[in-house]
Amino acid sequence: MAYKATKNPTTDLRERLFIPELLRGLAITTRHFLRNLFNPRDTNTQVVDRKGANLVSTVSYPEEKPLYPPGYRGLHRLVPREDGKPRCVACYMCATICPAQCIYIEAGEYETTDADSESRVIEKFPTQFVIDELRCIVCGLCVDACPKDAIRMDTGLHTPSEYNRSGFVWDIPKLLQGPPVSHPSDPWNKRGSSSPPPHQHKEAHTRIGEGLVPLKLPGGEPHKRTEVTDQPIPVTRFLKD
Ligand code: SF4
Ligand code: SF4
Repeated sequence: MAYKATKNPTTDLRERLFIPELLRGLAITTRHFLRNLFNPRDTNTQVVDRKGANLVSTVSYPEEKPLYPPGYRGLHRLVPREDGKPRCVACYMCATICPAQCIYIEAGEYETTDADSESRVIEKFPTQFVIDELRCIVCGLCVDACPKDAIRMDTGLHTPSEYNRSGFVWDIPKLLQGPPVSHPSDPWNKRGSSSPPPHQHKEAHTRIGEGLVPLKLPGGEPHKRTEVTDQPIPVTRFLKD
């Protein structure tokens, strides 16, 4: 709606003198100032680490912070295993799905002679894992894509301020943080060592013969049992000797 300014506003003598209105405005400002300065603080539960004893409603960030919603995505972290190593197996899935292409990974391979038996059950590990937090659009796709629960955005932290761009490029020492995570399905929890289990790939081929699946033929005859021998079964092997 258009605003119509009148050239002859109706004002009384007090308004036309200006001084009383000026003093009235100053009184309102002073009242708010004194109330904020001396009265008890507004106990706003939506603000973390509320400090001070006045009613100023401005959040003094970063000392005070507003509460984030439960699904808030903060800075990335590489999730460590119980032994402190990253859970990451350098599969590149997060880097592949990242729409901002801000993840850079270089993979290393555990030696077959590695004395660390935990490492032997995993083929690869990241020698470099870098995220450019300035390019990140905080979409969370890397977290969803990771098959090892190795990258999370559960730190609840903003990217801290830096003086140059390189400060926003986080590498493994910066990213590897937070409590370790362990799952029963982790290969280093499933098997004690890297040596192939005695019946690797065998069960799928011999379960009928071992009676695990009592298969019956349509005619009612029980299926002929498969001979189980100690001979190696010609299947693809995914683990190294
Ligand atoms: S949150 Fe999205 S943009 Fe950021 S690193 Fe992950 S996939 Fe890339
Ligand atoms: S963080 Fe997850 S998705 Fe990314 S390379 Fe490591 S294991 Fe793969």
